[in-house]
Amino acid sequence: MKVLVLNTGSSSIKYQLFLSDNWHVLAHGMLARIGETESELKFNWTDASGASQSRHAQLSIPTHQAGLDLLIADLREHELLTDVNELAAIGHRVVHGGAYFNRPVVIDDAVIAAIEQMVALAPLHNPGHLVGIRVAQHLFPTVPAVAVFDTAFHQTMLPIAYRYAIPEFLYTEHQIRRYGFHGTSHHYVAKCAALMLGKPLAQCNLITLHLGNGASACAIQGGQCIDTSMGLTPLEGLVMGTRSGDLDPAVVIYLMKNIGLDATAVDQMLNRQSGLLGICGVNDMREIESRAAAGDAQAELAIGMTTHRLKKYIGAYYAELEQVDALVFTGGIGENATGIRHRTCAGLENLGIILDDAANTARELNGARCISTAASPVQVLVIPTNEELEIAQQALAAVSINV
Ligand code: ADP
Repeated sequence: MKVLVLNTGSSSIKYQLFLSDNWHVLAHGMLARIGETESELKFNWTDASGASQSRHAQLSIPTHQAGLDLLIADLREHELLTDVNELAAIGHRVVHGGAYFNRPVVIDDAVIAAIEQMVALAPLHNPGHLVGIRVAQHLFPTVPAVAVFDTAFHQTMLPIAYRYAIPEFLYTEHQIRRYGFHGTSHHYVAKCAALMLGKPLAQCNLITLHLGNGASACAIQGGQCIDTSMGLTPLEGLVMGTRSGDLDPAVVIYLMKNIGLDATAVDQMLNRQSGLLGICGVNDMREIESRAAAGDAQAELAIGMTTHRLKKYIGAYYAELEQVDALVFTGGIGENATGIRHRTCAGLENLGIILDDAANTARELNGARCISTAASPVQVLVIPTNEELEIAQQALAAVSINV
């Protein structure tokens, strides 16, 4: 059987088609700028001889339905999906499941209503997911669809970790609390880490760092999330590509009262013009590292602030966990930026985090690997994340449970 994973945004659809026997990726790609004058199609697949092929086109994709029609046509043409009933499940990535969902669920009207209710908390994400879910329901009416939530893994947090110290009614009446995001990635790398550590996930204490354009840290005790750095929205926590992460809430008041920004402008500034971009003018870590190496003081500051914030979270989560088996780096920066890993771990030797510099920088190494010394009490692991695979596997598992 096959499993299709869809990550639908307001103007894009990213997808992967898996063969569930061996989780081989049959096709992956994206449909971008849907509804604009010129849209984009990227379709990558493996042909019958096992060779990788790709098709890239600029064309008109007026609606999400037109986009999925194109995808189905491509899959049919290359005999990757001759009948939609070859699909055992469709897994939809959903960013915000609020407190409703602590696991993936088969989508029905009640699930759609709950995702709708969460639109206020994820206005940039949940509306796009809902369009994707409805269009896929229309095109694949007989295939079970599963929602896999970025927030679900973090639902094991206790109130001491997820509550903000603000008036009670803001929680009880308005659901304002920490939810956390990137849960699919944190869960996936935690499972890989358990395999590498050679013990059940339920016995593992981990600090996982998902460092991409968005970035978050997670404290995992006995395989369950006990704290995470993102909050009500993905704005809180680490220094990110364009998001500020933690700041004194009074900064928002100051921006509104003294600089005259309205709520939309503050939102834009903290989510899109801050973080690495706000500090040094670019948000691509590769460019920032090369600028810093060439002596650019702002790029150096951006790296210093990033790793300083990471150390703060590692220290805090170490204290919460009391004992840590492994520190895990993942995401584009976590998997590739050797300098960020080095500076994050430097000075943490007394916490039992001892990086092996040769293993950290070894160019020939990729894939999941240990980059701490043999004597390091806490293993430092680099584990490439694979959120699509995790969504596909969780979707199939949810459908199997429901059979
Ligand atoms: P997204 O959150 O958009 O999925 P990614 O996980 O792809 O982001 O991470 C993107 C970040 O990873 C960018 O800042 C990019 O510069 C950084 N990155 C990717 N490859 C490298 C590399 N070889 N060295 C340093 N940074 C890298």
